[in-house]
Amino acid sequence: MLKTKVVTSKRVSEVVSTLAAEISADLEGRDPVFVCILKGAIYFFAALTQQLTRSVVVDFIQVSSYGATTESSGTVTLVKDITVDIAGKDVYLVEDIVDTGLTLADVVALLRARHPRSVQVVSLLSKPSRRKVEVPLDFVGLEIEDRFVVGFGLDFDEQFRNLPDIWEYAPDREEA
Ligand code: 5GP
Repeated sequence: MLKTKVVTSKRVSEVVSTLAAEISADLEGRDPVFVCILKGAIYFFAALTQQLTRSVVVDFIQVSSYGATTESSGTVTLVKDITVDIAGKDVYLVEDIVDTGLTLADVVALLRARHPRSVQVVSLLSKPSRRKVEVPLDFVGLEIEDRFVVGFGLDFDEQFRNLPDIWEYAPDREEA
């Protein structure tokens, strides 16, 4: 069930605009490719890239982490790869939320193997208290407490991605 609203859609918009301004300033002199980690980051990615002050290349990657559970399995498999060549490019990897950091560490390693000039990480949300591996986050929207959240792209068992606000979610007794 949805418990409490953690971030309103209005606050999400403000955070996205702030990040877009910061990243736009960082784009000077770069050859950028924005990579969206599907599916969770899709709403954030669309909102963010539309507010950048110049044209950028966009691409998509999908890895599997959670199924119908609120705990990370810690093993990541590649479901869909990017299609553009990132060799010599400046990659901005866009994630919805960083929890243990395991997913991101794997995706960063995978992309670095293709010899981009740089890889920077952009995440809408971060749960620092849950970190198991240190992954440098270059641009972070909001830090939140250790709560499982849904909405604005984030799901539980593929539901709730389309909600405009971000909610704390707790499985019902019979779902748990
Ligand atoms: P990590 O590998 O950092 O533990 O987890 C990263 C991925 O787990 C995120 O891309 C996201 O898909 C999922 N995840 C982590 N925390 C949450 C959360 O609070 N809510 C939802 N819906 N997904 C989460």
